Amino acid sequence: MDSLEKIAGEVAGCPKCKLSRTRKNAVPGEGQLSAKVMFVGEAPGRSEDEKGRPFVGAAGKILDEMLTKAGISRSQVFITNIVKCRPPNNRVPEEDEVQACTPYLDRQVALIRPRIICILGRTAFSSILGGGSITANRGKIIEKAGQKYFLTIHPAAAIYNRSMLSLLEADLKKLAKEIGGHTRGSKEQSLEDFM
Ligand code: URA
Ligand code: SF4
Repeated sequence: MDSLEKIAGEVAGCPKCKLSRTRKNAVPGEGQLSAKVMFVGEAPGRSEDEKGRPFVGAAGKILDEMLTKAGISRSQVFITNIVKCRPPNNRVPEEDEVQACTPYLDRQVALIRPRIICILGRTAFSSILGGGSITANRGKIIEKAGQKYFLTIHPAAAIYNRSMLSLLEADLKKLAKEIGGHTRGSKEQSLEDFM
């Protein structure tokens, strides 16, 4: 029987694409089997490659902050990437690498059966849904083959850009509503709070 641990073990020693030759540590992803939402980014960066854990560098700090603001706890989510090994100099993963690695993501999705998959940025959008511009589609929910997807920008795009940061915050609050989290705690309330 398949399991998240089995997948993580295979990923750790995976030789299936050329990124295996330059990585320090593969990054399978982390979170609970019971996660309601999966976040899918592009690829591990330098910090992730060092630690073998997803979103632990600058982009991860932003993601953590935005999750907290949206009232989404880490225990509700599983976080991973399109490719599990760092591309040299953080270049965008190439098509052959995405093809080689996607079966791991597919197996993770099959096990977790998330209520919704949150796509972070353009690479994940094009790899999973064949999409184009993420800025033109962010905040949208898409359903494909019985699976729901939520689209938003990559947290790395918000590192030096305040307006992107607000967009990401607004999107993740919307996502929180969708998964039945709560967005209160900050000041705003919605009509649903009174119904
Ligand atoms: N950027 C990503 O896309 N994924 C990570 O894990 C870290 C940074
Ligand atoms: Fe294997 Fe994916 Fe790493 Fe390529 S990126 S070596 S397919 S785990």
